[in-house]
Amino acid sequence: MNNTTQTPVTIIGLGRMGQALASAFLEAGHPTTVWNRTASKADQLVADGALLAPTVGDALKAGSLTIVCVTDYQAMHVLLGADDIELDGMTLVNLTSGDSAQAREAAQWAEQRGARYLDGAIMAPPQAIGSVGAVILHSGSQEDFEAHETTLGALGTVTYLGADHGLASLYDVAGLAMMWSVLNAWLQGAALLRTAGVDAATYAPFAQRMATEVAGWLPGHAEQIDRGSFPAEVASLETHVRAMAHLIEESEAVGVNAELPKLIKAMADRAIAAGHGGEQYPVLIEEFGKPRDN
Ligand code: NAP
Repeated sequence: MNNTTQTPVTIIGLGRMGQALASAFLEAGHPTTVWNRTASKADQLVADGALLAPTVGDALKAGSLTIVCVTDYQAMHVLLGADDIELDGMTLVNLTSGDSAQAREAAQWAEQRGARYLDGAIMAPPQAIGSVGAVILHSGSQEDFEAHETTLGALGTVTYLGADHGLASLYDVAGLAMMWSVLNAWLQGAALLRTAGVDAATYAPFAQRMATEVAGWLPGHAEQIDRGSFPAEVASLETHVRAMAHLIEESEAVGVNAELPKLIKAMADRAIAAGHGGEQYPVLIEEFGKPRDN
């Protein structure tokens, strides 16, 4: 592809993910400068047309947009925090994984040094980068995001979440919570059915149907959560808890692990003890919304 009109980009960090990001920019025709602590990881990218900068400072000067993707925020601060690194006027997009506090602190730190800063979270493995299946979340200034949205689009499906720099990290962990909850529920069911000789492949279509059905309830539950009002339009929490007890009893009776159903029921029991038994399931947000140490 002709790269004379494409935005020049810099990638700092060429681990598994950084290499995939740089490759996607090269494939989309962006003049791409790279830097990595272990320079040999740039060999293939250089063969494909990337320019290897001798120092981080040189790498930053080369692109009008710099993507940072290293192990953690500490590594990013080590790399970009040195006194001789000039960030004034730079735009940084930090796709390093971290938590929301680290993202907000990094935004303040970068802005104090005169840089524009977007935080991001990559919701895909390296091999998906460059395809629409690679969802990449961004938070920070909308103006900065929109200025670079087309360029960032070379990496996958790019999404803007809001001005709070912590949002990309929060959505990242919220997505992981969703993923593990669905996967653990699936494994609970597969373990139960295996005791009756039903293999996972036979159970999978039913499990998928249930997951899809339940996912369809989320907008209605969201309305109740946002209103803070939980009328039992479909079923009360007490009705759910009776079924939870049944799941625990069945798990124990057939000899499979009952820890997850017990945890689910313990939270619902506490909500009932607090007087919410006659309300609908999303009232449990009150339990999820506060810390519990034990
Ligand atoms: P990786 O293969 O382990 O690469 C880590 C990168 O960080 C390397 O470029 C490494 O440099 C650099 N680095 C670490 N500490 C450094 C330091 N003190 N100074 C300079 N450079 C340092 O990890 P990765 O898979 O590319 O992941 C990078 C980020 O993407 C992580 O935050 C990860 O959570 C996120 N992510 C990864 C995936 C995935 O599937 N891989 C998916 C989503 C998000 P050297 O090469 O010199 O060691």
